[in-house]
Amino acid sequence: MALSSSPPARSSIGPTTRVLERLEALFSLGHPPHAHRLGLSEEEERAHHLVASWMRDAGLEVEVDPIGNLFGRRPGTRSDLAEVWVGSHLDTVPAGGRFDGALGVIAGLEAVLRLDHRTTDRAITVVAFRDEEGVRFGRSCLGSRALCGQLEPGELESADGNGVTVAAALDRQGRRPDEIPASGWLARNQPCCFVELHIEQGPVLAGRGATVGVVESIVGLLEHRVSFTGRSTHAGTTPMADRADALVAAAAFIARIDAKARAGGTVMTVGDLQVEPGVPNVVAGRAQLPVDSRGTDAKTLSELESFIETAASDSAGERGVRASVTRSLRVEPVVLDAGVNDTLVAVGAEHGDDVQSLSSGAGHDAGVLASAGVPTGMLFVRSLAGGLSHHPDEETDDEAIGDSITVLTTALERLAHDGRRTANAGPDQR
Ligand SMILES: [Zn+2]
Repeated sequence: MALSSSPPARSSIGPTTRVLERLEALFSLGHPPHAHRLGLSEEEERAHHLVASWMRDAGLEVEVDPIGNLFGRRPGTRSDLAEVWVGSHLDTVPAGGRFDGALGVIAGLEAVLRLDHRTTDRAITVVAFRDEEGVRFGRSCLGSRALCGQLEPGELESADGNGVTVAAALDRQGRRPDEIPASGWLARNQPCCFVELHIEQGPVLAGRGATVGVVESIVGLLEHRVSFTGRSTHAGTTPMADRADALVAAAAFIARIDAKARAGGTVMTVGDLQVEPGVPNVVAGRAQLPVDSRGTDAKTLSELESFIETAASDSAGERGVRASVTRSLRVEPVVLDAGVNDTLVAVGAEHGDDVQSLSSGAGHDAGVLASAGVPTGMLFVRSLAGGLSHHPDEETDDEAIGDSITVLTTALERLAHDGRRTANAGPDQR
């Protein structure tokens, strides 16, 4: 039934070929052989312009919101009904791969193209969020959190390594950061549901011999900055007993973090370390590092927060230095919407795909939308290369891309049917 309702792609180019060509075009906007489109950078901006042009070519109504998120709307027959959203992000980590983020946006656009002239009750809107990776400013999901009113106070004033603030970067892109509403603007056009398609970034689906899966839950995320402040003194003339060595305290702290995560079945990472003055013959006066921690429930996240505080103060105390801990981000773990996921699973089964369920150890824009009350589902596309991600060798295959777009297309059409979610009439009445 579902198979026979799938039309051929509009152009003579096969859908997977077009998707791969578009991913390649985005990839080449960075610094090949790497994808390199940091959030709020020129490369990300160019990617948004390119995708906006493809949206216009597809006949979509293009809009950009106050933080720069891109929307391409395919109107439905009933403008009074809440829209169905589909999409992901276009930014990457430095030296990233082809698929993380970009695949979800391009697949959403491809699904809309495949719907061709078939009408839906609800509009289907392809979304590209800004700065999901949070590499440059240390704050992930910036675009989707701004939309959902989840920016922390003063967040737009946080700076990158060159002292450029989020507000200044937005200003350079022609946005008006001072006019960004702290409470977000989701309620102005709250979708009835959101589907994010994303490469798995792990080995689970390939290990099970499946091409696609649905994500039941997304882990919560903590980002902290920890600083140790001691005394910069002469490496030759300061006796060991008289030192206040910030770097040694930081090293003890990192060892505690690692031991805690290994013992507790969670993951915690210190991926950077800045030392001042950072010369061989001076005792370190200051050491700063970020801590990335993840947990599957709110209680675990809170325990990890207190652990970081205690570990920092113990490590500092042992070496006679001071510690300060600042939390820059807390994203709660979320359970995704069973209704939307059930649709993805059912559609997959109709197409002969055994859609597996798994959880996501990486954060996603889907988690932000879900935490803001949007019924959200997530479709994972199998990774190859052992699940390697945030790396130029990130890989999937044509079969998995093809299956995922087939499932996505039919699921979007079904979700955009008026009969869905009559029990959840809230968004329609806004
Ligand atoms: Zn991603």
